[in-house]
Amino acid sequence: MHVRTILNRLHRIPGFVFGNERWAEYEDAPALLVPVRPRVGNKPVCSGCGEVAPGYDTLKERYFRFVPFWGIVVFLVYAMRRVNCPRCGVKVERVPWAEGKRLTTTTFDHFVAHWCKFLSWTEAASEFRVSWRTVFRCVEAAVEWGRRHMSLEGVTAIGIDEIARAKGHKYVTLVYQIAGSSKRLLWVGQDRTEETLRGFFSWFTPARSKLIQFVCSDMWKPYLKVIKENASQAVQILDRFHIMSHFSKAIDEVRAQEARALAYGGETALKKTRWILLKRPENLTDSQAVRLRDLLKLNLRSVRAYLLKEQFQLLWEYTSPTWAQKFLRRWTFQAMRSKLEPIKRVARMIRNHEDLILNWFRASGEISNGVVEGFNGKGRVVTKRAYGFRTFRCLEIALYHALGDLPVPKFTHRFW
Ligand SMILES: [Zn+2]
Repeated sequence: MHVRTILNRLHRIPGFVFGNERWAEYEDAPALLVPVRPRVGNKPVCSGCGEVAPGYDTLKERYFRFVPFWGIVVFLVYAMRRVNCPRCGVKVERVPWAEGKRLTTTTFDHFVAHWCKFLSWTEAASEFRVSWRTVFRCVEAAVEWGRRHMSLEGVTAIGIDEIARAKGHKYVTLVYQIAGSSKRLLWVGQDRTEETLRGFFSWFTPARSKLIQFVCSDMWKPYLKVIKENASQAVQILDRFHIMSHFSKAIDEVRAQEARALAYGGETALKKTRWILLKRPENLTDSQAVRLRDLLKLNLRSVRAYLLKEQFQLLWEYTSPTWAQKFLRRWTFQAMRSKLEPIKRVARMIRNHEDLILNWFRASGEISNGVVEGFNGKGRVVTKRAYGFRTFRCLEIALYHALGDLPVPKFTHRFW
């Protein structure tokens, strides 16, 4: 059976026909070349304007990477025609199997992008015998296709978050859809300034921004201001994830200070306790739980800070804003008398933003508590992996690819 027969069955290209394959050598291994030619009477389409145009000449053959067959590298081989377009002048034709000047077929782009959900880009490069750069281009093409075809209807709740992109205070701002038909990453912007977030709203369009009902974010001032400007109707919510991350910083500070002081006196009670104090008790391993129990017996500042944080967690059990408010006030009163400066700072912040926190309870059940946290976790993993990429573009593509829940074209046959 010919490869042509298989392609005719699974991957017809309207207006073009496949010829018989022939063998070739590609990087010291056999490869299959499948010639493609226009069907008789097929007129070339101008790549400038997308209209049929009179032919001009034919260029020499180009090799378009196709999905490997039984591990054998496959190319479609085609001699591009040029058109003499009355609107655009002399232009290369547009072909249906590849975008723009790409030398990989759209099917191959999506094939590689699909596998990059499970493999690192380096692994995919070696698996499919292409360069890392080619893998990136494939994922980029798949992401661009998905972004062009994604629907932005029905986005009523968004979460705004920031992730450190590299050492030295470089940040990216991420905007998620956190409720409704899809929970996904909507947008990535460089930095975390007012300008960054304005970029999101102008991409999202003013009309859609007016339909947003809830915005979860940190109290980062530039964010609050820009949200007010662009989606003033939305209820702003200070969500659990962002509040609790302030606690983590505070506890870290108390613990580090105290551990230094203790170590000076030869005491090691706080050694390797960082994660024990930061994790929720239910997430501790058995030996960590034992460690925590012993730790709690000691009259340490770190322990007091830990207990105040755990006590604060009870807030999330409330459903009524009134009772949540009572709880908040009782807790802040206590925390302000704790003599733990970092914790008092959190308490002050909570007091100053009480309304934003209580909005969480007013939104009652519209948004699930872990959603921003979940995205932040996954986003960090992608970002960590992307430290090696250096450029913002690579990180952006990797994030959209992993978290964007992007649509893929419906092929007559999927090769994966
Ligand atoms: Zn044209």
